[in-house]
This record gives sequence, structure tokens and C-alpha cells, in this order.
Amino acid sequence: MTSHHRVVVVGGGNAGLSVAGRLARYGVDDVVVVEPREHHRYQPLFSHVAGGTARASQAVRRQADVIPRRVGWIQDAVAEFDPDSDTVRLSSGEELGYDHLIVCPGIQEDWDSIPGLSEAIRTGAAASHYAFELLGTASRRLRDLRAGTVVFTQPPGPASCAGAAQKPMYLACDYWRATGVLADIRVVFVVPTPTMFGMPAIDEELERKVEEYGIEVRREARLLEVDAPGSTALIGSTADGTERIAYDYLHVVPPQSAPDFLKASPLPAPGDPGGFVEVDPRTLRHARYPNIWSLGDAAATTNSKSGGALRKQTKVLARNLVAALDGREPVARYDGYSVCPFTVSRRTMVFAEFDDEYRPQPTIPFWPGLARERRLTWLADRYVLPWVYWHLILQGRA
Ligand SMILES: Cc1cc2nc3c(=O)[nH]c(=O)nc-3n(C[C@H](O)[C@H](O)[C@H](O)COP(=O)(O)OP(=O)(O)OC[C@H]3O[C@@H](n4cnc5c(N)ncnc54)[C@H](O)[C@@H]3O)c2cc1C
Repeated sequence: MTSHHRVVVVGGGNAGLSVAGRLARYGVDDVVVVEPREHHRYQPLFSHVAGGTARASQAVRRQADVIPRRVGWIQDAVAEFDPDSDTVRLSSGEELGYDHLIVCPGIQEDWDSIPGLSEAIRTGAAASHYAFELLGTASRRLRDLRAGTVVFTQPPGPASCAGAAQKPMYLACDYWRATGVLADIRVVFVVPTPTMFGMPAIDEELERKVEEYGIEVRREARLLEVDAPGSTALIGSTADGTERIAYDYLHVVPPQSAPDFLKASPLPAPGDPGGFVEVDPRTLRHARYPNIWSLGDAAATTNSKSGGALRKQTKVLARNLVAALDGREPVARYDGYSVCPFTVSRRTMVFAEFDDEYRPQPTIPFWPGLARERRLTWLADRYVLPWVYWHLILQGRA
């Protein structure tokens, strides 16, 4: 073992940096983040980049510039967990010991789980806003399309902000409408659920936009296979069986799952095929290892995974970990809050706030107004939140 730290954080994404920053603010010393990437990415802006309302450069900062004050950074990846000896092994072979471990390496995109998809991406006829490297292709293809068929897909199963799959679709439709080509473009959307989202108030707003833009929705459906040379997508749905759609551009959100190195570790619940970290969904403490904690997309919590959920999770986890360091019981509770902001046009948004049973949980109590199509929430999503993210959230201040 080459070093030992009071708190080791696995992953320096939204969860890792904001919880590390908060712990440092609460006076915990010797917090280190293990993160391999040179650059930090603000993923919610990816939808705007693909939809033409932001530039890719606005979603990226050097990792060194966003590490919170009084927090250390080890530029490496964790390869293995050994919770019985309180150590993690890094890709470099080095071992790190810890008093407490926070596990938040995010979610994994399973591009190869759809036959033909990777090949279609290589040809440039398919792309996504779920990979930074594909944002350029996605935004160009959506911008330059003048006629033909475009298929958007949202995958079943766990996903990082599942509804964000829809954001570039509405942005593109609004752009095509403004440039007079929408009538010449057939837009097909493949969604795994019976409705667009799953909350009546939000569904009502989204269905109105779907009709306005003339989007054909394939419900309870999924992308099964792509024939890259033939430019067709095979869609399967519970009600209608399978259907092959010829596309001019295919915009995919890939199926997602727990990172492989996590699935292979002792941290998921025994026998859980999901592979996410087994935590008490309220305290965020591991069910079997009391000095291990998890939050964000990698945690087996009951909420819909999102950056908005982290606003509350980071506070709960940091308070509980400080209590544990002081020998007290962790009493803070996460209530399952999550968000999904739908950019339904290039100037308006429908903002969903809900709990882990998809019941409304508005930040401003008794005012369901944010769930309606509004200009104010669009401005917040596009301009205010990115600023708050870079300056406050990543420092553990919001
Ligand atoms: C396209 C897109 C749009 C989204 N839009 C929204 C939105 O509008 N609103 C919203 O609230 N949420 C949105 N989200 C979700 C939000 O971005 C995530 O929920 C949030 O980033 C989760 O934070 P995290 O730290 O768990 O994971 P991430 O932010 O993904 O960070 C995980 C980090 O772990 C690192 N890592 C991975 N493996 C290892 C390893 N072995 N060792 C060490 N480090 C490792 C990664 O490099 C990464 O930096 C969106 C997500 C995407 C992809």
C-alpha cells in the first residue's frame, strides 16, 4: 500500500466532486478523489449542444480547475475493491487505504448491446448526445437535415436522466419548424414506457408538443438492432411486434448499466443482476460495509438517476459521513427527489420534479407551475444552472 486517506472518493464527476467539496467545507481533512479524466464534463448541456443551443466547449472544463478547494486528486482509475481490507487497487497497480470510501463512478453506456449500432455510428448516419465525442456529428446531422426520416430512441432499463433522451428531439423539431422543413421530415420516437414520461401533468404537456411537431411515437418499444449498410432500425414493441424503419439519421441513447468493474466487485447486493452499489436508499450508507457510501448514478437507490437528485444526496451523505466520523448515528435521510428538465422548444421548458414513486415534489411547494411549458425554466436550464454547477455545486456549495 502506498498511501492511506481519511476519505477516498471513486469518481470525480458530478457526485464525487460535489460530495468531496461538501466534506471539505464541513471540516473533514484528507479527502482525495480518484478520477482518470483530464477534463470534467457538464452532461446536462450535451442535450443543448446536440440540439444547437450550446457549444461543446461550454460543457467542458479542465479537471484540475474544478477540483474543490482542500480536496486532493489522484489521476487514476479504480480497478478493484477490497472492502474487507479497506483498500482499493488502482489501474496503475497502486493500492489506497481508507477510513471511509465513497463510490460514485457513474453509469456505463452499453453501445455494443445493440447489434449494428457501433457500425452505424462509425458511418456517421447514427450518433448520440450521450457521448461527448458524438456531439459534433449529432448537432451537424440534426442541423443539416432538410427532408427524410429521423429516428430518436430512449432505452429501457436504468439510465442517467432517462427523459434527457427527448431534449434534442424537441429542440431539433422546433428548429426544423422555424426553418420551414418540419413538414418534410418524418420524426419517429421510440420510448420504453406507455406514456412520454409517467407523470400525468408532465405527460399532458409533452403529448401536446408531440402532436404540435407531428412526432410518431412508438410506445412500450425499444431499438433491437441496426442494419448499418441498409440504414434501417429494427424496433420491437409490446403491442405491435417488430417493425423495420429506414432512417436518414438515427439518434440513439444507448442502454446503460452499472460499470463492469463494479458489477464484478463485492459492493452490489449478492445476486442482484443490476450491479449498482447496495446502499440504504435513505442514508446512502452501504448495507454491509458501514464505512462505504454511494450516491449518484452508480448507487442502487430507488430514485430516477439525475444531477438534480444529487443536490439532495450530497448533503445527506456528507452529513451522515461526518456523523459516522464523530461516532454518531447517521440520521439525515434522502427523500428520493429527482428532476427531469424537458427542453420542449428552443426557448421553453417543462420541468419535472418528483419523488421515487413519480409523485410531484415541487421545489416551490403548492405551485405546480414549473411543470407547465415556460420560458423561465428554459433560461434556468440553459444559463443559470451551468453557472451554478461550475461555481457552486462542484465546490459543495449548492
Ligand atoms: C446526455 C445527458 C444529459 C443529462 N441531462 C440531465 C439534466 O438535464 N438534468 C439532470 O439533472 N441530470 C442530467 N443528466 C444526468 C447527470 O449528468 C448525472 O445524473 C450525473 O452526472 C451523475 O453524476 P455521477 O457523479 O454519478 O456520474 P458522472 O457525472 O458520470 O461521473 C462519474 C465519474 O466517474 C469516473 N469514473 C468512471 N470509472 C471510474 C473508475 N474506475 N475509477 C475512478 N473514476 C471513474 C468518470 O470518469 C466520471 O468522471 C444527464 C446525463 C447525460 C448523459
